[in-house]
Amino acid sequence: MKYNTKDYDYLIVGSGPYGSIFAYEAAKRGKRSLIIEKRQNVGGNMYTHKKHGINVHDFGAHIFHTDNKEVWDYINQFTEFNGYINQVVANYKGELYNLPFNMNTFYQMWGVKTPEEAAKKIAEQREAAGISGMPKNLEEQAISLIGTDIYIKLIKDYTEKQWGRKATELPSFIIRRLPVRYTFDNNYFNHRYQGVPVDGYSVIFKKMLESELIDVKCGNDFFDDKEIYLNEFPKIVYTGMIDSFFDYKFGELEYRSVRFESETIDSNNVQGNAVINYTDAETPFTRVMEWRHFDKKSDEGKSVLTKEFPQDWDRSKEAYYPVNDQKNSKLFKLYRLEADKLKNVHFGGRLGNYQYYDMDQVFGAALKTIEKEFKGMDK
Ligand code: FAD
Repeated sequence: MKYNTKDYDYLIVGSGPYGSIFAYEAAKRGKRSLIIEKRQNVGGNMYTHKKHGINVHDFGAHIFHTDNKEVWDYINQFTEFNGYINQVVANYKGELYNLPFNMNTFYQMWGVKTPEEAAKKIAEQREAAGISGMPKNLEEQAISLIGTDIYIKLIKDYTEKQWGRKATELPSFIIRRLPVRYTFDNNYFNHRYQGVPVDGYSVIFKKMLESELIDVKCGNDFFDDKEIYLNEFPKIVYTGMIDSFFDYKFGELEYRSVRFESETIDSNNVQGNAVINYTDAETPFTRVMEWRHFDKKSDEGKSVLTKEFPQDWDRSKEAYYPVNDQKNSKLFKLYRLEADKLKNVHFGGRLGNYQYYDMDQVFGAALKTIEKEFKGMDK
């Protein structure tokens, strides 16, 4: 370790939104932080880079959406948003459908033209499936909510690819609330505020971390010097995997991972939409992003596309999605109890809390932690 630990009030492990907001807010209050980041770039999974003038999201499509005005105002101090509204198209063996399930989808699936006709069709399919009582798994849950046709073409294979398990082996709570709209509205999210930063997400982190009270060391893994960090820093904010922090002593939590494959094509418009989901079993990827459509770019002659391949997680891969089923939630509680015993380490963010947080939830959680940490000082 090449830095003087005495210079810092905080060691922050991970430069994603949770760690970066903490460092930014601490610096505003005169506190000094060292951020260590194992990747070569800051920003965690929100990191974006420019290619042919297009903002490419390196860790999958990130659309900021929230109902939380405080969080929306907060992020807007670092960037302007471009008004992008996510409207996803599904491709099932060459048939195209609008998502989330709405009157356009119902028209494409069955030719129905009114909300009443659509509701009737769904009710008929629900009844024909004969599922009674509490749905026992995701398949039963989906069919009882939306009927068989949509389940087969738009949910089953996609979900099985995503989670790497049969829909009959997945818990029903994963899709407790399916977005079903009896209007011709293709907006994927219901939230009041939505968009993508005009110049990508990375500028946000550049601004957050520019204070001279913040030092950032990329390419540094916490586990390379764990004991020294624990002994020498007065306080640590840890946003890595909680099970890994405790050397997996109760066993591994389960995660899903993703592999991304990008290509550049000489074209102004390859697929006509920012996101296309491939909902059949034969296509190995789940979705394809065409980044220029997030930026609302006009002609430049090049387009960058990224395919997303879900994969099993093991320790050599990035952990992207926690699997919050009962078994893992129980295991997580054991780790949480251990974490609570460590008074100088705060566990935060998606991996530290083993929760599938969206960005706005991480922003909200980081701001709450700051409020608690500096209680009294801000008055
Ligand atoms: P992260 O962003 O994961 O940052 C954690 C950082 O800690 C990483 O940079 C990591 O390298 C670093 N780190 C971990 N362990 C160590 C260690 N041992 N030593 C040093 N550094 C370490 N949210 C939305 O709101 N909208 C979306 O459209 C959306 N799309 C998503 C798509 C995908 C494919 C994924 C995976 C997530 C998506 N999210 C989306 C969620 C969003 O990415 C998270 O909410 C957010 O990034 C979590 O922030 P964080 O700070 O907790 O963690």
